[in-house]
Amino acid sequence: MADYHTHDDDEPLTGEDRDAAIPADVLEAVRTLIRWAGDDPTREGLIDTPGRVARAYKEYFKGYSENPLHHLTRTFDEVGGYDEIVLLRDIRFQSHCEHHMAPIIGKVHIAYLPTTRVVGISKLARVAMGYAKRLQVQERLTAEIADAIQEGLHPRGVAVVVEATHACMSARGVLTSGVTMTTSRMMGVFREDDRSRKEVLALMKIGSN
Ligand SMILES: [Zn+2]
Repeated sequence: MADYHTHDDDEPLTGEDRDAAIPADVLEAVRTLIRWAGDDPTREGLIDTPGRVARAYKEYFKGYSENPLHHLTRTFDEVGGYDEIVLLRDIRFQSHCEHHMAPIIGKVHIAYLPTTRVVGISKLARVAMGYAKRLQVQERLTAEIADAIQEGLHPRGVAVVVEATHACMSARGVLTSGVTMTTSRMMGVFREDDRSRKEVLALMKIGSN
């Protein structure tokens, strides 16, 4: 049989060995969907596709195997009196909508106003990824990220803005490409104080691009 593993050079095992760990009904489910799409899952080009799809699902949805809050357990208390906004902008993410299992692709901006605890800045991105790598709706993704930062860091305020395009809109249905959906969750001072909210939105450059 032809070498059909050329896309998976990063993994040393052959397709059959790797697929042995995947339940047969998972592989069969992908074959069923290939048939449903109108193709033949036994033709050469598709023969290893169920295994690839099954492994890809474990990557798309690896957020289920973690608690994103754990990324916020190691905090730094010595912030040297820093009491201004901490902002991480343009965190790229990919998620999947829970209605069509189609990709949601976009970016997250996360800001918080620390009290005494700050966290390594990469941890904010890890929190976002932990929730993005699940079946989602954008509104809940936004809220879950904000709630986790509130719970983990107890800051004076949290602002999370998510801008994303939904493949279920651009690749099917109304076929509108280039439409971006924006969702936000403001907590603490960013919710209560107009000036603080305007300041954080300006730092995120929301509405300016
Ligand atoms: Zn959808």
